[in-house]
Amino acid sequence: MAKLPKSPLQQLDAAHHLHPFTDSQALHHKGARVIERGEGVYLWDADGNRILDAMAGLWCVNLGYGREELVQAAEQQLRRLPYYNLFFQTTHPRATELAASLATLLPGDMEHLFFTGSGSECNDTVVRMVRHYWAEQGQPERNTIISRHNAYHGSTLAGASLGGMKPMHAQGGLPLPGIVHIDQPYYFGEGGGQSPHQFGLQRARQLEQKILESGPDKVAAFIGEPIQGAGGVIIPPDSYWPEIQRICRQYDILLVMDEVICGFGRTGHWFASEYYGLQPDLLCMAKGITSGYIPLGAVAVGARVAQGLISGGEFFHGFTYSGHPVACAVALANIAVMQKERLVERVHDDIGPYLQQEWASLGSHPLVGETRGLGLLAALELVADKSDNRRFDEDVGAGVICREHCFELGLVMRAVGDTMIISPPLVIGRLEVDELITKARQALDLTY
Ligand code: PLP
Repeated sequence: MAKLPKSPLQQLDAAHHLHPFTDSQALHHKGARVIERGEGVYLWDADGNRILDAMAGLWCVNLGYGREELVQAAEQQLRRLPYYNLFFQTTHPRATELAASLATLLPGDMEHLFFTGSGSECNDTVVRMVRHYWAEQGQPERNTIISRHNAYHGSTLAGASLGGMKPMHAQGGLPLPGIVHIDQPYYFGEGGGQSPHQFGLQRARQLEQKILESGPDKVAAFIGEPIQGAGGVIIPPDSYWPEIQRICRQYDILLVMDEVICGFGRTGHWFASEYYGLQPDLLCMAKGITSGYIPLGAVAVGARVAQGLISGGEFFHGFTYSGHPVACAVALANIAVMQKERLVERVHDDIGPYLQQEWASLGSHPLVGETRGLGLLAALELVADKSDNRRFDEDVGAGVICREHCFELGLVMRAVGDTMIISPPLVIGRLEVDELITKARQALDLTY
């Protein structure tokens, strides 16, 4: 790899900073990319380049950068009460108001909220909560949790165990005991000649097989992202989720939806569970809850589990920053802006369909085997041969090459292997979508 001159900041960074999900050796050669500011859907790097952020940071900056409403909410709360906790029979107004507000937005009978500081902490909470729930029901042996290969549920021990990322499991001896995985509903990669409908049913029925294999009275819960995000924006066939819900009900297994990415309007609904007609027992949210301006997560709890927890004595679980007052104030302001600007409706009726229509036009490119998407989530598959959708050899690194071309052109797209994915801010405009598509096409041409 070529050695590039490094700025003093890049030198300091290389000398002292260990980055998450980063090959440090490569970073030391090139120096980190320095992002200095943001406005709307754009970022500016240290060299003054303007970059269209089609990933909304890490799927989170839903209102875009530079929203005064969120800054002011944080500032006011910092002055009034910068910190207090929710432990030991205490609350503060912003946490209570946020819980009540979320209860009106959530599907079904989800009227209780447990606050955390992140998506990973939500999923750690899920593991402890469902096991505590079943123990309180007199069934402590119900402690197995079923998840999916290639899922991403975070980086803590429980989050990474629930996740199905093999390289993460390999570092640290994961998954933790009692967490098992079934296959993902990835039709483009694994459909193998079946119809999408058949494939969706077949993948969902792996849940039933796993329940029978584990022992139906040993399984506590199934967890899944409505659309697997970090796994490559895997949109399941329509037959998949209804069958999963049916199986959960048949075997009395709790259904947990991880909506850390899909929640807060990303699919054109407040929560994607609505879109798929699901009534989960638990639902995890983070990221878009504050548009990423400040860390916050929450686990929404349906009536059945809530009643069990309320009557079950003390739940020995929580974080110093569970429901941090400044984060809750920002989340309330974030919801207020989303409602005032009707952003969920906008994604559903206007900008979502427009983005999907334009994104689909990339499907004619000789490098693209499939385009897919929902709302403001989209993916395309790079293929070596379009006639039979043959994939590139792994060591070609087509996705990484394409991602780097995007960056040179002033566009952030993410590569998951050879799947290119986007998740732009919900406030993106039509002209900005046009720019995104033009740059994506240019990057594909350069990769070809
Ligand atoms: N769950 C899902 C579906 C995610 O996509 C992520 C992060 O990308 C997480 C959980 C973990 O969230 P965090 O990074 O806030 O811990």
